[in-house]
Amino acid sequence: MHVSIAGGVDGAWTIARRLRCTAIQIFLKNNRQWSARPYRQEEIAGFHSGRYCPVIAHACYLINLAAPQAVVRERSVCALIDEVQRAALLDVPVIVVHPGAHLGAGEREGLRTCAGSLDEVLGATRDRPVRLALEMTAGQGSALGYRVEHLEELYQRVRWPRRLAVCLDTCHLFAAGYDLRETRRYDELVAELERRVGIEQVVAWHLNDSRGALGSRVDRHAHIGSGELGRAGFRLVVNDARWAGVPMVLETPKGPDLRADRRNLSVIRRLWKRV
Ligand SMILES: [Zn+2]
Ligand SMILES: [Zn+2]
Repeated sequence: MHVSIAGGVDGAWTIARRLRCTAIQIFLKNNRQWSARPYRQEEIAGFHSGRYCPVIAHACYLINLAAPQAVVRERSVCALIDEVQRAALLDVPVIVVHPGAHLGAGEREGLRTCAGSLDEVLGATRDRPVRLALEMTAGQGSALGYRVEHLEELYQRVRWPRRLAVCLDTCHLFAAGYDLRETRRYDELVAELERRVGIEQVVAWHLNDSRGALGSRVDRHAHIGSGELGRAGFRLVVNDARWAGVPMVLETPKGPDLRADRRNLSVIRRLWKRV
């Protein structure tokens, strides 16, 4: 489950335990601001002592590594470098990041810009044991990363591909046109991932239902089982032994309390047991 860090990163574990999470995702700082105060010493210590299951991070939403405007791109690179430093302080091994949006510059140009930005971030953080997991997107607007080929190209272009990884999101894949409900189409997707980047590169899954239809390229998450994917859309993914040990986290809509999270988790847990 993606859990809140409101009040400090160490607080994430309190929520995780209440939800009985077996893997969590956090933001490393407020995700709608460019910069944030450094962690307090006791916050870091509390994060380490509370830790009991795998944890990954999601990068700030403002970051656009493919931005055609130099100012935005440079700001994005600096922000992501800061996030890698924060992840290293917390021993968080993976930051999920979107390849970015080309905003009219075209996909080829956008991928080239993104690869350059990734190189800058990886080059500036060479001693940090943190991987950047490129998330496959729904392809909304001019978002890159909605085809496996896009990830393949980024792997080929960057200087340190070993510090890249892949994050798959059920909602995004479905909206991008990959049908996870049918065994044949699902197997084709996995085979394509294996051929173009290697399935061992997949270090995280996001489990979200989709409000948008198959191939709609609309990125809107729904509660598990109540969107276009439906329960059938999760059965293959959560029971596939090839993802054993890969953290799966939900980014479903949240309510004022933990009730919605509990309900979504219980739907997934039931699917998981019933093969
Ligand atoms: Zn996601
Ligand atoms: Zn999304």
